Amino acid sequence: MALITSVLSIRNLFVLSLALNVSLILRTMYEREQSHHWLTLETQKGQAVQKTRLALSPTSSSSAATTQVDTQDGGEKILNLARGDPTMFEKYWQQMGDKATVVIPGWQHISYFSDVTNICWFLEPKFAKEVVRVHKAVGNAVTEGRHIVVGTGSSQLYLAALFALSAQDLPEPVSVVSEAPYYSSYPSMTDCLKSGLYKWMGDARSFNKEGAYIELVTSPNNPDGHIRRSVVNRIEGILVHDLAYYWPQYTPISSPADHDLMLFTVSKSTGHAGMRIGWALVKDREIARRMTEFIELNTIGVSKDSQLRAAKILEVISDSSERAGSSAEGESFFEFSYNLMSERWKLLREAVEHSRSFSLPEFRPGFCTFLNRVSESQPAFAWMKCERDIEDCEGFLQGHKIFTRGGKHFGVGTEYVRISMLDRDDNFHLLVKRLSAIHI
Ligand code: PMP
Repeated sequence: MALITSVLSIRNLFVLSLALNVSLILRTMYEREQSHHWLTLETQKGQAVQKTRLALSPTSSSSAATTQVDTQDGGEKILNLARGDPTMFEKYWQQMGDKATVVIPGWQHISYFSDVTNICWFLEPKFAKEVVRVHKAVGNAVTEGRHIVVGTGSSQLYLAALFALSAQDLPEPVSVVSEAPYYSSYPSMTDCLKSGLYKWMGDARSFNKEGAYIELVTSPNNPDGHIRRSVVNRIEGILVHDLAYYWPQYTPISSPADHDLMLFTVSKSTGHAGMRIGWALVKDREIARRMTEFIELNTIGVSKDSQLRAAKILEVISDSSERAGSSAEGESFFEFSYNLMSERWKLLREAVEHSRSFSLPEFRPGFCTFLNRVSESQPAFAWMKCERDIEDCEGFLQGHKIFTRGGKHFGVGTEYVRISMLDRDDNFHLLVKRLSAIHI
């Protein structure tokens, strides 16, 4: 009996150990697959990917290229420049220290309401005051005779504008169009809820449907940085001007923008994307009211804490602009950021020239009324074209561990990619180093 038990237990142990080994092997294989899947998913979403476990093999077209190995990090670091996270401005705000600090006691900002006499009842008066002041200081938009509507980023204001501008009683949705290459979030934001009020109809250049439409004019444009005007020009059209990049560090300020509905955001002007604050300057009172209604239905207003922090940041910017040049103050925020962008574009153009595998858009300089001199266009994104028969530019660069967003997201061909110019210094310098080392 004892013998049978011991034989059984040896057999049992053997089977158990076999099962454990097999499950260990299967688990390792599964985890490898999962980590690959995770990376692919993250990459598709364009989110920050710092994992270097996966060795990405260059695409077929890149295998023909001779690439110097990046010695600084062993060429392993994945550079994710698919999103426009504006972390390059961090440096300026670190230098500002307590000047831009806001302290909020626990008892403050408890109410939903900010100013019940305003159409936008959740708009903090201090934030409204600083919006007007910064536009005056920079000279990039008319604020007189405008209603200010604050939003959780200009993304929320974009949806609020679509809601406010589309008639409730039309038999079919209003068409929404923008000239390609257009900001890649417009199609998905417009159609995410499959609204009966409005519908994404793509490139404004090929739009020929009868009836009401909304045209988005993004100027300077994301992704290519060019100055834009409306292209459809029909009487039934309503325009929304997305002026997220109409600031002196990106483009010469030629005159104050004076349109019916203009969208701005701190994300790209001051670099505070995490604050989630944008504002709309709206001529028509009823449109402003309906945009406010949309935000009320969505989020019952916009964070007061964020509005007051945004007010402080704008105040520091206006102060620095008004006192620019005086020896005590040094550079204004826009001079600092203009110079930084200028240095980056110079380095990028040198790298692209050295590589001879890519091309970049050219811009004509213009007189900037803010800087009071001729200044350059130096967009927040590099709209780069792969030359020499590289058809899938995004895939090609991915092979060099540079993650970008490909042309098809912007309504054009895959030979183009958009690369963020707004990342921190170390990532930007790694980008130019890698690009200049690519020779086909
Ligand atoms: N419009 C354009 C053209 C943009 O590039 C962006 C940001 N990428 C937005 C709107 C959205 O900005 P926010 O962070 O204020 O939602």
